[in-house]
Amino acid sequence: MKLKIASFDFTCCEGCQLQLANGESTLTDFLELLDIRNFRELSSEQYNDYDIALIEGSISRQDEIERLQAIRQQAKTLVAFGTCACFGGVNSLKNKFPLNETLAEVYPEMPVETLLVRKISEVVKVDFSIPGCPVNKEEVERIMVCLATGSLVTLPKHPVCVECKARLNTCLFELGEICLGPITRAGCNAVCTTGKTPCLGCRGPSEEINMPAFVELIRERKLSLDDLQEKIAFYNAFGEFCSHEA
Ligand code: SF4
Ligand code: SF4
Ligand code: SF4
Repeated sequence: MKLKIASFDFTCCEGCQLQLANGESTLTDFLELLDIRNFRELSSEQYNDYDIALIEGSISRQDEIERLQAIRQQAKTLVAFGTCACFGGVNSLKNKFPLNETLAEVYPEMPVETLLVRKISEVVKVDFSIPGCPVNKEEVERIMVCLATGSLVTLPKHPVCVECKARLNTCLFELGEICLGPITRAGCNAVCTTGKTPCLGCRGPSEEINMPAFVELIRERKLSLDDLQEKIAFYNAFGEFCSHEA
């Protein structure tokens, strides 16, 4: 039986949904597994009966709270889909400034209703999370197959460094950069560091991270602790680790 699935976007860029819609080489096989009930990037048809809801984006308006709660009531399984949904994502940078100042700066001539940004699990129960900015298409497809076959859904426990080393990359620390690969959950195939861009931790912390040791590494290499703090805060993905004493 096909999985009845729906996907809904909240405060976000819709890049995560686009990852799925763009998977042309595997899209047909992928759709064989799914009965798309509501997914505006894939189909104009919309139905309200679905078992799995993919939630993309964070929550930053009152009407989004109400819409999300209604989706939660309908869905048997609710998935936080992408870094915005899992952690708040880049949208959370707004929370660092007084709301009225942000509104005056960004929307000086237009009244805009906005709240402090929240991740999905701060509003409704989340059954599991697929991090990534954007999500990794292969990982999403693997998880959907797990759901369709009733298998256990897992994410990699190891850090991005493992994937980075497997791709024979030169470590960016050797080039004087701060890279969050040692503390970030793998699963993206080290896409940024392979392109010589340091990891900013969009997939959140890997299991059993050793933040004090990582901070010590930054100190030993005489790199900036302020830069480290800024990188860790970028996606709001490190929760309790965001407030570590750098
Ligand atoms: S996680 Fe990144 S790609 Fe996905 S919706 Fe948010 S900003 Fe866009
Ligand atoms: S570049 Fe980053 S991800 Fe790659 S090995 Fe170095 S610290 Fe780890
Ligand atoms: S390398 Fe880091 S920032 Fe880039 S996709 Fe992977 S986890 Fe995200």
